[in-house]
Amino acid sequence: MPRDAADEDRLQRFAAIWSRAVYPATTTSMTRAEFEDYLVPLAARLSEALRAQPFDAGPAADIGAALVDAHCTDPEALPLILSVIDAYLVLYCPPGDGLSAEESRSRCTRLQHHVAAGFARALRERTRSEQEAITRAALGARAEVEQALHASEARFRAVFEGAAVGIGIADIDGQVLEVNDALTRMFGGMEHLASGSRTTDWGHPEDSPEVWGLYRELVRGERDHYSIEKPYARGDGSVLWTTLTVSLLRDADGTPKYQIALMEDITERRRLHERLRYEARHDALTGLPNRTMFFEHLDRALAGGPDGAGGDRVGLCYLDIDGFKAVNDSLGHAVGDELLVAVAERLRACATAPGELVARLGGDEFVGLVTGATASADVTALARRMLRALADPVHLEGRELSVRASIGVVGGKTGTAGSRGAAEVLRSADITMYRAKAAGGNRYELADAACDARAIARHSLTNCLPAALDNGEFFIEYQPLVRLGDGVVRGAEALVRWLHPVHGVLGPDQFIPLAESTGLIVPLGRWVLQEAARQARAWKHAEGAGPDAGPLRVNVNLSPAQLCYPGLVTETVEVLADAGLDPAALCLEVTENALIGADEDALRPLRQLADLGVDIALDDFGTGYSNLSYLRRLPVSTLKLDRSFTRGMQCSPADPVDVKIVEGIVSLAHTLDLSVTVEGVETGSQAECLRVLGCDTAQGWYYARPGPPERLHTLSLVDAAS
Ligand code: C2E
Ligand code: CA
Ligand code: CA
Repeated sequence: MPRDAADEDRLQRFAAIWSRAVYPATTTSMTRAEFEDYLVPLAARLSEALRAQPFDAGPAADIGAALVDAHCTDPEALPLILSVIDAYLVLYCPPGDGLSAEESRSRCTRLQHHVAAGFARALRERTRSEQEAITRAALGARAEVEQALHASEARFRAVFEGAAVGIGIADIDGQVLEVNDALTRMFGGMEHLASGSRTTDWGHPEDSPEVWGLYRELVRGERDHYSIEKPYARGDGSVLWTTLTVSLLRDADGTPKYQIALMEDITERRRLHERLRYEARHDALTGLPNRTMFFEHLDRALAGGPDGAGGDRVGLCYLDIDGFKAVNDSLGHAVGDELLVAVAERLRACATAPGELVARLGGDEFVGLVTGATASADVTALARRMLRALADPVHLEGRELSVRASIGVVGGKTGTAGSRGAAEVLRSADITMYRAKAAGGNRYELADAACDARAIARHSLTNCLPAALDNGEFFIEYQPLVRLGDGVVRGAEALVRWLHPVHGVLGPDQFIPLAESTGLIVPLGRWVLQEAARQARAWKHAEGAGPDAGPLRVNVNLSPAQLCYPGLVTETVEVLADAGLDPAALCLEVTENALIGADEDALRPLRQLADLGVDIALDDFGTGYSNLSYLRRLPVSTLKLDRSFTRGMQCSPADPVDVKIVEGIVSLAHTLDLSVTVEGVETGSQAECLRVLGCDTAQGWYYARPGPPERLHTLSLVDAAS
């Protein structure tokens, strides 16, 4: 992204703040202004790294090194450098619109991490060369001792006393002979080490195991030097962390004589490193362990046990707050954040036993992890505790917010984590959480392999739906609609199918719900309408003007989501115009359920289409328990009786209750000037029965199964001729 003048200005200001903070802690020969200029390109690189896609924190290491080059090497320099980045980088070099605040923060933290790492590496390099120089001087001093003892002594003393690193000299028995001022300063005085005249008194409880092994090898003359990170106790009880390099000095015949220790104070750097490590593993908002730390624990637990039975000792609760988006949308993100903090607090209190952990994965998703031999029993108990912990409303700024959540549990009795990987376990928990949501939320569900498999299949179908439309994998079958009075074909219903490259032909029940939930139903429905309109037009040309049959009409199903789509009316008009089709040749089928409770606004598009002359049919009528008098308000012209009524006509004599109902519906429909179509007619006696009851049109296997459009035409000609 190119920078504009405003960006440049902000960079300059960032560099000014940076230099103001860091300059006092440098030993640079640059002036303040020069130093600030030195920082501008570094700031620019940080800003670029912050906004780069994909994100890469690597370049920040060079910035750490550049700061060491500029002699920002005082012990306080690094914290100052990082604190300015921490507080001002995102503010002055905003990374642009694409990134959430959370992501920006996390990037900024990772950049600091790399600046610190680069800084430490460069400083180590520099200290090493400094140490080498000192060691050389010390060795030189020994070598020259015979010839120019005094001169070299003087040179050595100068280095010894002036060095920025701490230096201590001891004889080979461990008797400390001398320490320089820098070392005394590091320790905050040497008084507490009065007995520390021996090297062995300089031990610390946190010493790594090899420290004293290396030391013994050195004094035995088996090695000439070693380098290690080592803690010491300071006079005030605090810990001093150093990188310690110990070298052996031998006399002229090679006998070990002295040891010289060089120490660099890395306490600050270590503290910083720990802070960054903590931040990298905790969520900034709630302070809970974050995704990274959670996966560390989960991976370890799954790998667990010497018997490889890790999976049986892991339980997982995947929790998602119900309706959190609504809180964010209606009360604002600040309140949303406070709610998350409150929820985190309560969840944290649920997992206090050893082996339990609650983490925030991001957004409103939390996870509870249980490990140990009784994990499968403990995990359901944890899920219950979590729900109970959220039962009381949260009080925020005088408001009472009730919190509900859905939890997917893996590792309970039914769905063990088994030998699965972390990602798989988490996915199973996630899927199960959605099942809990679908069941109404505010509950937990146990993972179940069969449900997982179904969800995954559904998921993968959903994923390839959009491409399927582009690839032309959908096709339409037509099922004739027959006039009951004379058996003449009046039209056909368009029924969409998906020729899936792997699963073969899929019926609409297998993918229409997916298309509805993903919104793809709008373009798919538009395509069906275009195809069907084109087809109806083609029939019209082929048949000529049938004598009494009238034009063949086409019925197209409309999903509830399409009814809400604002372009419905204009697009339908366009499609009809493009196909050259009369609106009266189109019937849109809408289910009764989609219209129950619809207000005047929701009905407006249908009413407009009806006014244009498009027929509207109420599909699956009789399944929705709608109030019959309500029918008068709807812009419909046809009722399509649900298949269940037709089934009642199957036995002979027909089910008297169904007969009564159908009779009633038909007479009401006709009173309201609506025609009645029956679906699912599979036998001649059903057809006859429904005809007698006054139904107008029928559809079903008795006449024809859904099939290719050509077949409809032949059927129509045969019927018209007979
Ligand atoms: P529907 O609108 O009630 O469609 C009638 C369904 O009954 C069709 O199932 C059809 O194949 C089936 N059928 C027809 N005659 C008989 C019969 O004699 N006996 C029995 N047992 N069944 C019969 P299909 O094709 O599986 O379609 C299922 C549903 O999918 C449709 O129900 C409709 O709601 C939806 N659908 C189909 N195409 C589309 C479309 O293009 N868009 C939308 N939104 N929905 C569609
Ligand atoms: Ca239909
Ligand atoms: Ca139907």
